Amino acid sequence: MASRVIAIDGPAGSGKSTTAKAVAARLDLAHIDSGSLYRAVTLAGLDAGVPLEGDLLVEVAGAKRVELREGEDGLRPVVAGVDVSKEVRSARVTEHVSAVSALPAVRTWVTDALRRAVARHPRGAVADGRDIGTVVFPDAVLKIFLTAAIAERARRRALEEGSELAPERLQRLAGDMERRDTMDSTRAISPLKEAVDAVRIDTTNLTFDEQVEAVVERAKPYFSAA
Ligand code: C5P
Repeated sequence: MASRVIAIDGPAGSGKSTTAKAVAARLDLAHIDSGSLYRAVTLAGLDAGVPLEGDLLVEVAGAKRVELREGEDGLRPVVAGVDVSKEVRSARVTEHVSAVSALPAVRTWVTDALRRAVARHPRGAVADGRDIGTVVFPDAVLKIFLTAAIAERARRRALEEGSELAPERLQRLAGDMERRDTMDSTRAISPLKEAVDAVRIDTTNLTFDEQVEAVVERAKPYFSAA
């Protein structure tokens, strides 16, 4: 039987997580933000002061019980029992997360954790990331690949951060996202790439509600609305 999963993949800032969260709420599914788990492993490694190497990071992730845990508002990244939702978005984590996520041992560890998280939710889940439809849940009932023009992605990220829409700030954000996208798309293992059976949605000219609706419409044949 196909996995009861809607996979949403795409580049940085394409709105995957916010869209996935809204779609999950509409269809009464769990929302699994795989990037937050890569970020939590990165944070745990940085805080432990270990070299960012695969085996060491997996050891730290186990010892610090890195996990996605059910909170008031869905699944939250947790390290040593502490909700680290805010810390995982910090610049120092963002700077190192693509290098950490390119390590095979880390990818195996996170992939296993994601599959276990979905198995705990009998109704199913909306999972977002880079390799959800290609590697983690290749049998997902629906695969979406979200894209948007880089200038629009930078503008949305600035609004999300509450930072100014000044040209220099937007340029810096766009540069950071493009660097991360290049690392994520060119790594040897599980690179960011569109699944052959994914539905591609370019959200550059869509409102947030329109982009959520576009996914919900396609998901309805598989999941009844809540
Ligand atoms: O989605 P987010 O920007 O939080 O992801 C952070 C990083 O985690 C990405 O840049 C990517 O390197 C990595 N990632 C990944 N595979 C996933 C999700 C995230 O490699 N499924």
